[in-house]
Amino acid sequence: MLPQELIRAKRDGKTLRSEDIAAFAAGIADNSISEGQIAAFAMAVFFNGMSRDECVALTCAMRDSGMVMDWQSAGIDKPVLDKHSTGGVGDNVSLMLGPMVAAAGGAVPMISGRGLGHTGGTLDKFEAIPGYQAIPDQETFTRVVKEVGCAIIGQTAALAPADQRFYATRDVTATVESVPLITASILSKKLAEGLDGLVMDVKCGNGAFASDEKFARELATSLVEVASGAGVRTSAILTDMNEPLASAAGNAVEVVNAVRFLTGEHRDPRLEFITMQLVAQMLLLGGLVGTHSEGEKKAQSVLQSGAAAEVFAHMVRALGGPADFVDNYEKYLPIAPVIMPVPSPKTGRIWAIDARGVGLAVIGLGGGRTRADQKIDHAVGFTDLSGVGTEVKAGEPLAMVHARSEDAANTAVLALQKTYTMGEVEDHFVPQPMIIARIEGEGA
Ligand code: URA
Repeated sequence: MLPQELIRAKRDGKTLRSEDIAAFAAGIADNSISEGQIAAFAMAVFFNGMSRDECVALTCAMRDSGMVMDWQSAGIDKPVLDKHSTGGVGDNVSLMLGPMVAAAGGAVPMISGRGLGHTGGTLDKFEAIPGYQAIPDQETFTRVVKEVGCAIIGQTAALAPADQRFYATRDVTATVESVPLITASILSKKLAEGLDGLVMDVKCGNGAFASDEKFARELATSLVEVASGAGVRTSAILTDMNEPLASAAGNAVEVVNAVRFLTGEHRDPRLEFITMQLVAQMLLLGGLVGTHSEGEKKAQSVLQSGAAAEVFAHMVRALGGPADFVDNYEKYLPIAPVIMPVPSPKTGRIWAIDARGVGLAVIGLGGGRTRADQKIDHAVGFTDLSGVGTEVKAGEPLAMVHARSEDAANTAVLALQKTYTMGEVEDHFVPQPMIIARIEGEGA
């Protein structure tokens, strides 16, 4: 079918055939489809949607536009598992989860992204570690997954190139916010990892890409059904993102938080809960445990035995980072020259936090990007972030700011104070559930 006929059919609300979708996606990757045609197709899908079968066809075609990993031929006989988060603030779950799943017997070839908008990116966090090769060659990636069980790296041009071109056009044509297009975009990259099982952490709340629960549920259901339709056991957890997940937000500060989590030095309770839930779900999907609660026990045991911290240390070493990183992370990570408290403007109970505002304050400090080509300052951010429900007195710290200069720190203090809404100490506080919904796919 000619591209203009395919666009016309979608514009008129018709259902497309898989082979026509596949040819269109191949044309995106080989540049035979013009940018105008991509934009028109995206807008037609934006308004008319896609059936599940159409979305599975688009996902598989975009996955197959580049390299698809084959772990069996590489000699890996463990279940190959991954998690994807739709992005949040202080969400450093991947840093612990990858090593934990590997320590429990899975293989985790995790391809992660950079910060998007106000949300942080796993890749940016790992790049705070000196020497860490975040984009290694394929041979190194395969070797590290095989030897260590886990490699967390960044995306290369070889993976789902159709999505890279498609997304760039959607980004400038107001067509990002379409459930089938987001689904195909996220899954084409994840499924190119050659997975046996995938857990989606769909964040919902003021710090999430999906601030609205209805949209988050729709996206989670679509992701689960389409990935299952493409043959990968998948489930999703809808989790709360109405405050930063960890007590740190930034890059090096989130790495510190993750190492301390793995070694048992400090674990933020909300972060611990979500991490355990996601790890247990991955172990269950991979057949490494028989029930979710067995998965939670296994997750606890790989933390307690130090096995997960050992996998993290081994992965950092294998990808070029310092051999003694876990023991001496303070020696290696960049430290901001100005570290000062963010005083609470009043006495009361923290009633709400604008997590998106916290993410934007990290960008203001230089810890995130306002343009894709910008370099970031890995040292800056916030630590000791107080959570919703905490009582504070006027002048006591809500958090610590880590900044490049006094001016930047003062600006960040004001920005962070604005993200906190204070109630009265005696106000009755009911913690909100951290898990909003669980969505299981077929065979999950
Ligand atoms: N993240 C992606 O990778 N793709 C989208 O379309 C939206 C978010």
